[in-house]
Amino acid sequence: MTPDPRRCPTCGDPLRFEILDDERFLVAWSCLSCGIIRTTEPV
Ligand SMILES: [Zn+2]
Repeated sequence: MTPDPRRCPTCGDPLRFEILDDERFLVAWSCLSCGIIRTTEPV
């Protein structure tokens, strides 16, 4: 089984993302049930 990074690790619902800062490409991934799962930022 391959974990799907676009699904919630807790409940399995599809995550939606929200761009927090498009200059730094900072994106928040959130689940409707569980809230924000993680934020991603390029190194
Ligand atoms: Zn969830």
